Amino acid sequence: MHRVVVIGSGFAGLNAVKALRRAPVAVTLVASTNHHLFQPLLYQVATGILSTGEIAPPTREVLRRQANATVALGEVVALDADARSVGVRLADGTMRSVAYDSLIVGGGMVTSYFGNERFERFAHGMKSLEDALALRAQIFGAFENAQWIDEPAARAAELTFAIVGGGPTGVELAGQIGELAHRSLVAEFRSFATTQARILLFDGAPRILPTFPERLSARAAAALERLGVELHLGTTVADIDGESITVAGPDGARRRIPAHTRIWAAGVRAAPLAQIVADATGAATDRLGRLAVAEDCSLRERPEIFVVGDMMDLAGLPGLAEVAMQSGRHAARVIAARAGGDAPPRPFRYHDLGTMAAVSRTSAVASFGRLGLSGRIGWLAWLVVHLAFLTGFKNRVTTVVHWAITFLGNAREERAI
Ligand SMILES: Cc1cc2nc3c(=O)[nH]c(=O)nc-3n(C[C@H](O)[C@H](O)[C@H](O)COP(=O)(O)OP(=O)(O)OC[C@H]3O[C@@H](n4cnc5c(N)ncnc54)[C@H](O)[C@@H]3O)c2cc1C
Repeated sequence: MHRVVVIGSGFAGLNAVKALRRAPVAVTLVASTNHHLFQPLLYQVATGILSTGEIAPPTREVLRRQANATVALGEVVALDADARSVGVRLADGTMRSVAYDSLIVGGGMVTSYFGNERFERFAHGMKSLEDALALRAQIFGAFENAQWIDEPAARAAELTFAIVGGGPTGVELAGQIGELAHRSLVAEFRSFATTQARILLFDGAPRILPTFPERLSARAAAALERLGVELHLGTTVADIDGESITVAGPDGARRRIPAHTRIWAAGVRAAPLAQIVADATGAATDRLGRLAVAEDCSLRERPEIFVVGDMMDLAGLPGLAEVAMQSGRHAARVIAARAGGDAPPRPFRYHDLGTMAAVSRTSAVASFGRLGLSGRIGWLAWLVVHLAFLTGFKNRVTTVVHWAITFLGNAREERAI
């Protein structure tokens, strides 16, 4: 039987495995987490809306009915492209080797601090479940701590949330922290008003959501400002420490702002696995460390190795869940055709299904080609699309319940810290 090893249980890897369910192959999915992760909803875990299980279903459970798929937990730390095997480090530090005939690499991205690695110690990233839980503890902990602080400047610092990055993640986080401060938590504190919280969103670009049409960016900006979010555009981060953030505004003047919660939602680069693959195969990487692939998503140097999802550098495609799903499925189709002796499918073409960002409780922007939606209608589109793409029927049901609690009732159920 043709052996396929898939690395990564993200959108790309998981969809590749599922697309191989009827192929005459034996699949082994190796991933460094035992769960899939719906990253676009990480911010809802960080702000107390959803529980971890809803966005991170166990991979074994997702694939339990797929008889030709085996799930293995471990981190791929080596690749021998000549011997066609990957070296996997297990949780206890021991090593195993897994042989393949075809390899699909879907290792995704990690947070990038643009060379300022010391920022990592002082600013929360937003890439993993651990990141979201740490941020949840930080956000709700800040409100708890503020109750004990009488000195106005110290309380103001405790209640200042500085977010770097005006893309969808930064916008969604800013909107939800604004909702917490101005709606959900208002009735719960006695000694101070949660509306004193300052939510600052910094970006070097002149507008938020730069990949969206200008009109939608402007609508999202207005919705955020209605929630009390302060937008600091054309502003770059000069320094971050354990108590503050220092920024340089459009005039170049530097300002140090005391802020006890600092969030980095500004950049990503390929996970270290990409360099392991590049070193083993001679494949080229771009400035984000992504691996250059041919039109069928395979490496030119090693046609039996495919790179899919965020880690793939192909035709300038962006790091989006839909690109990951489609490329994962495409690699699976090529492998199934080869294993079955069929003609190869046509080259990979990405079908753009649009992008969206939820700005507040019932407001979102959505861009589908020339159609742009905002406000409540945008939010309804957001709701339908996210429900459709959540993994697992049970998760959809509990997510709907949690969304009803949050969006209709204004409450936050998932905030144990
Ligand atoms: C906060 C946030 C919000 C986002 N919002 C949106 C959005 O609204 N819309 C949208 O389309 N996209 C969004 N994205 C992007 C989207 O989530 C990614 O494009 C998508 O997750 C990429 O899928 P992937 O499978 O390539 O990588 P990932 O989902 O990152 O999965 C990578 C997998 O590889 C595994 N892995 C990595 N290295 C190793 C190793 N050495 N050994 C074993 N396993 C390894 C990881 O454990 C993981 O299972 C968002 C991303 C983030 C972080």
